[in-house]
Amino acid sequence: MRIVAATQNKHKIEEMSAITKEFGMNMVSRLDAGVPEFEIEEDGKTFEENSEKKAREIMKVCGNITIADDSGLMVDALDGAPGVYSARFAGEDSNDEKNNEKLLLLLKDVPEEKRTAKFVSVITMVYPNGEKIVARGECRGHILYKGRGNNGFGYDPLFVPDGFDRTFAELSAEEKNKISHRSIALQNLREKLKEK
Ligand code: IMP
Repeated sequence: MRIVAATQNKHKIEEMSAITKEFGMNMVSRLDAGVPEFEIEEDGKTFEENSEKKAREIMKVCGNITIADDSGLMVDALDGAPGVYSARFAGEDSNDEKNNEKLLLLLKDVPEEKRTAKFVSVITMVYPNGEKIVARGECRGHILYKGRGNNGFGYDPLFVPDGFDRTFAELSAEEKNKISHRSIALQNLREKLKEK
């Protein structure tokens, strides 16, 4: 089964295709599917809204089944922020370093037991006939006071998943793929595909 990935994030494509390969799905990037670059405004209030919008816009262009994910970090002490704003938390010229700095600053007086958080991923698969499948995955953990590790991307150096003493950025891609929000969402997607 060929699936077009709406994301342009190289790390996410690597993570998602490592997982979809296990399930016998052949994922191609939107560029490899011949979809030119164009801006899709992520103006939804939920991960569900944003992922569906991205998938539908790309599907309209390529005509193939398309998969899009929207993901982010929700920190309990910040009432779920940065949430859908995770990628642009530090403003217009955000990058991973600035986003992490902002998060650490906001949490500087928050004690260890209140630094709980979760990564959320919502994956939406849309079909040319308009049908959709929505799958959600969550990975709970806590936020450190200082980053550790060089693997991964985004908030990985600050996030220690429950049951581990290493951050996402200290885990290998294989280890992270077993427990990540995206892999849980993909496994849920697989279950939903089986039911279809
Ligand atoms: P999206 O591309 O709109 O889904 O934005 C996701 C943002 O959430 C990314 O830019 C990261 O800042 C953050 N994020 C999502 N998944 C991860 C992850 O696995 N590790 C670290 N940060 C993540």
